[in-house]
Amino acid sequence: MVARVLVVEDDAAIQELISVNLLRAGHQVQRAHDAESAQVLLHATLPDLIVMDWGLPGISGIELTRRLRAEVRTRAVSIIMLTARDDERDKVAGLEAGADDYLTKPFSPRELLSRIAAVLRRRVPQAGDGVVEVGGLRIDPAAGRATLGGSELALGRTEFRLLHYLMAHADRVHSRARILDEVWGERCGAEERTVDVHIRRLRSALEPGGCEAMIRTVRGGGYSFSAGAG
Ligand code: CA
Repeated sequence: MVARVLVVEDDAAIQELISVNLLRAGHQVQRAHDAESAQVLLHATLPDLIVMDWGLPGISGIELTRRLRAEVRTRAVSIIMLTARDDERDKVAGLEAGADDYLTKPFSPRELLSRIAAVLRRRVPQAGDGVVEVGGLRIDPAAGRATLGGSELALGRTEFRLLHYLMAHADRVHSRARILDEVWGERCGAEERTVDVHIRRLRSALEPGGCEAMIRTVRGGGYSFSAGAG
């Protein structure tokens, strides 16, 4: 799958390495060395995916990710965060800021390419996906819209897919491993903890409508979705 990728990285050598490999894989590449120049490029055109360095001069990659997720126009752009930090807390912070995935430096270009492919695969609605409606919640995968009681829910791409999967398979318990396979894609390499982070984000999106309890945590089991919960 060919994509338009924006590489935001202040280290010239790493930026070059990533860009060359993306171009070689057939992707279109734009580059920025800091958050400000990234914003200028984003203002002109939206990429499919951003490879975002965490440690940027000025506005950090994590702060820029937060800002992009807060804006309707840029909310749905996929983001893979790059970082030199190999700390679980940083990883969770990166995902909570809105990154779809996370890679610790040093990483191989091959690994980055496979993560990009996995993130992009998640964006494509599955064939035959119809509208699902459960207890006031309505999700339309083709239109990319989720509504609760008629008002649109602001969901990130991963939360959208996660909600769709859970709604389409309601009243069943899904293990984290299963959810990763179904929503993130098999062999995506993400850890099960990632599911918890996105579930938390999904619940807070449902909270204003009082529907967060529809997603139940099943002790030792995983998660389930049910209209009757609450
Ligand atoms: Ca950096």
